Amino acid sequence: MKIGTPKEVFDGEARVAMTPESARMLQKLGYDCAIEAGAGVAAGFMDEAYAEAGVEVVHGAEALWRGADVIAKVRPPSDAEVGMLTADKLLISFFWPAQNGDLMQAAANKGASVIAMDMVPRISRAQKMDALSSMANIAGYRAVIEAGNNFGRFFTGQITAAGKVPPAKVLVVGAGVAGLAAIGTSTALGAITYAFDVRPEVAEQVESMGAEFVYLDFEETAKDGAESGGYASVSSPEFAAAQLAKFREIAPDIDIVITTALIPNREAPELWTKDMVDAMKPGSVIIDLAAEKGGNCKLTVMDQKIVTDNGVTIIGYTDFPSRMATQSSTLYATNIRHMMTDLTPDKDGRVNHNMEDDVIRGATIAHANEITFPPPPPKVK
Ligand code: NAD
Repeated sequence: MKIGTPKEVFDGEARVAMTPESARMLQKLGYDCAIEAGAGVAAGFMDEAYAEAGVEVVHGAEALWRGADVIAKVRPPSDAEVGMLTADKLLISFFWPAQNGDLMQAAANKGASVIAMDMVPRISRAQKMDALSSMANIAGYRAVIEAGNNFGRFFTGQITAAGKVPPAKVLVVGAGVAGLAAIGTSTALGAITYAFDVRPEVAEQVESMGAEFVYLDFEETAKDGAESGGYASVSSPEFAAAQLAKFREIAPDIDIVITTALIPNREAPELWTKDMVDAMKPGSVIIDLAAEKGGNCKLTVMDQKIVTDNGVTIIGYTDFPSRMATQSSTLYATNIRHMMTDLTPDKDGRVNHNMEDDVIRGATIAHANEITFPPPPPKVK
């Protein structure tokens, strides 16, 4: 069977789902590999490198889709791409099935199988396929780099002949995968880093990374907002008020805020209000990684950088992984390769779409002419 990767059609998307390195590994599973000409260029992978790795370079999307049994891509398919699916094909990509019901129905109507990389169950065995975490890690790192690029001072404190430079103070709100990556990057750059999360169990992890956990003066901290299989749930009004009061108190002293707070299947909670922005010093920076879900900061504009009247830069970009396309393509292509390994137990270049396998079942949203989303809960942790 042949695995093909087309050039992404979403405007500005620089990532690619197959690299020369991942193609070598896919060939070891018995597959032939094909790439649309130019598909890797924006991520730094040239056609020649693919050809050297034994990948067929195909000219034109239609020829690529026609010739491949498995299509591996990054973004959900466009309507035109779904039109190129046929009953014998397997599509693997991010899909966001809950938001893209019509697209999922269209793919199912074609009889194609679809694996959504955003639906890979977050169980230990599936970590190597967890593309959400791969991308969140990059977003967290890049958020700090982007903040530094828009901040007029050093992160680390210095004593120089020309004077003493105070360290920057960074607050990371939400210490999930992206938040922890941001914390690690910020402390590595020498900033005094604070972090807050509604899940108090992350405090130890935050502190072990050299950051300071922001504790609330709130009796129920230990359980509020913390239940729900490791994910955050909605906080009580009292807890939310205590959190906002704490942020309001520290806002004038913080130079950079990186917000990453999300609650699955909900709009992002509003945690950084206009009066907090107003209280920040000119030159301060806010990077809102929750912009796509409405933003944690009241003033964030999705996909935009704005500067407020009091000189605070607020960045709501939603394409941080694409801004580091070489790194994100490498990790994503590896996640795809691991998915293909699970789908190819006999290493014979043939897909065994085993719906009894928790991970494959969980991620499959269309199979044998049927929508298979949402999946049953995974049996193992
Ligand atoms: P996420 O992107 O859904 O949320 C980001 C963070 O925001 C979370 O830590 C959440 O607690 C926090 N948050 C929500 N509301 C908040 C508020 N009001 N104030 C402050 N913080 C708030 O989370 P994620 O990065 O996808 O990961 C969350 C959980 O999933 C963690 O328990 C993590 O260990 C787990 N996880 C497991 C696996 C795996 O086992 N394969 C992989 C990734 C993540």
